[in-house]
Amino acid sequence: MKRPISVLFATSEARPLIKTGGLADVSGALPGALRSLGVDCRLLLPGYHNVIDGVINPREVAHFEHIPGYGIVRLLEATMPGSGTPVYVVDYPWHYLRPGGPYQDTHGKDYPDSAWRFALLSRVAALLSGPTSPLDWHPDIMHCHDWQTALAPAYLRFGGGGAASLVTIHNLAYQGIFPPDMVEPLGLPAASFGIEGVEYYGNLSFLKAGLFYADWITTVSPSYALEIQQPLNGMGMQGLLTDRQAHLTGILNGIDTTDWDPASDPHLPHKFSQRGPAGKKRCKQVLQADLNLDPKAEAPLFGIISRLTHQKGLDWILQIAENLLAQGSQIALLGTGDALLENAFRGLAASHPGSVSATIGYDEGLSHRIEAGVDFFLMPSRFEPCGLNQMYSQRYGSLPIVHATGGLKDTVEDGVTGFVFHEAAPHALWHAVQRALDTFADKTAMRRMISAAMGKDYSWEKSASAYAGLYDSLVL
Ligand code: ADP
Repeated sequence: MKRPISVLFATSEARPLIKTGGLADVSGALPGALRSLGVDCRLLLPGYHNVIDGVINPREVAHFEHIPGYGIVRLLEATMPGSGTPVYVVDYPWHYLRPGGPYQDTHGKDYPDSAWRFALLSRVAALLSGPTSPLDWHPDIMHCHDWQTALAPAYLRFGGGGAASLVTIHNLAYQGIFPPDMVEPLGLPAASFGIEGVEYYGNLSFLKAGLFYADWITTVSPSYALEIQQPLNGMGMQGLLTDRQAHLTGILNGIDTTDWDPASDPHLPHKFSQRGPAGKKRCKQVLQADLNLDPKAEAPLFGIISRLTHQKGLDWILQIAENLLAQGSQIALLGTGDALLENAFRGLAASHPGSVSATIGYDEGLSHRIEAGVDFFLMPSRFEPCGLNQMYSQRYGSLPIVHATGGLKDTVEDGVTGFVFHEAAPHALWHAVQRALDTFADKTAMRRMISAAMGKDYSWEKSASAYAGLYDSLVL
């Protein structure tokens, strides 16, 4: 019998242990879905507090003494809670055991030594995928995600090769850019600092290195795979990505349909389903009460759950908010990020008590309750590699209103499961919102759309088979 393909899935975050964004959702769900297809997929994570404390049965399986610039680095093997997926943990307390988040300290400031922190993660990924690995297990594929692990294909190349390498871009906006004088201290050959290498406009870019040296590149939706080859969304990498287009594919993310199932979601006060939607109305009532919104069943309720950054088009929402509220709508926002946006939404809530609720912070339970309790979900991102909330929204019968970009374009069917606008401008968002409000006034049309949205299948199986097929083609 053919040996199963083995994959080292190197990532800087994975649910349920550590999450700042969609990458964690993907890393939490895709390895398990791949394992169900017979792929021997194992995670590699940094040993942050939550990881060391959260993995099951961690034990040391190797250590590295000779990585220049670092002391002794221990490697633990364990399993992930819940899924039981095997996980290797880079145990290097000096870099990872910190009170803040994975990338920023408790004051929200980027750690000054992130080049060192994620070069180490990349380096260990390459070591485990190359000829000098201390493990008995040798991956066929080294699958890296975003800039934090994108230096691994470069290390693998300069360390004598090994597994086939794949880099997945979850968001091209984050490129891991550091000064050029970091190249040699991080153990990269001086000659790699050039256009044909790790150099990016005079600096070192981890992501550029990955995109240049990896055998294959994927991104998280077919539309985004095309958009990043254009100047508008290519973030300066469009030339390289166009050169590599024969080795670049878009594979749409799935969602975790167990965590995100309105029929069994433990966060919800009432459960519901496509066949039995009554609980959704009750979820709306409870949400309005919890968020101090006026208890009006007939008020269209718009949800927003987001990192508060320029990317997400929240300023467009602010521009239409007064008009929207004047028509009797309500807004429930959950998010954290740029202080200006946080304050703008706080201000909107303060001036519209009973109609706007702004929860500034990160709250998993509330994110589920908002998805369940709102009528519409606003996601007017300027660009969106894949996006998850528009898929959760459809599954929870909350019709998404989205900009036609990236994964939003690939997952929302205009007028069928949500509302899509094309022009990147607030007035286009406003037109889409008007269409949503017209639908809200027509109970039959609303019911039809909710049912169509809830019937969509975004489970991981489809994406996982696409990745498994790609892995196969890379080891042939
Ligand atoms: P991105 O990765 O760009 O942040 P995605 O839509 O791909 O956007 O994924 C965002 C994920 O993070 C979703 O699971 C979303 O529900 C969650 N999320 C974002 N902000 C918050 C928040 N403030 N509280 C809880 N969950 C959040």
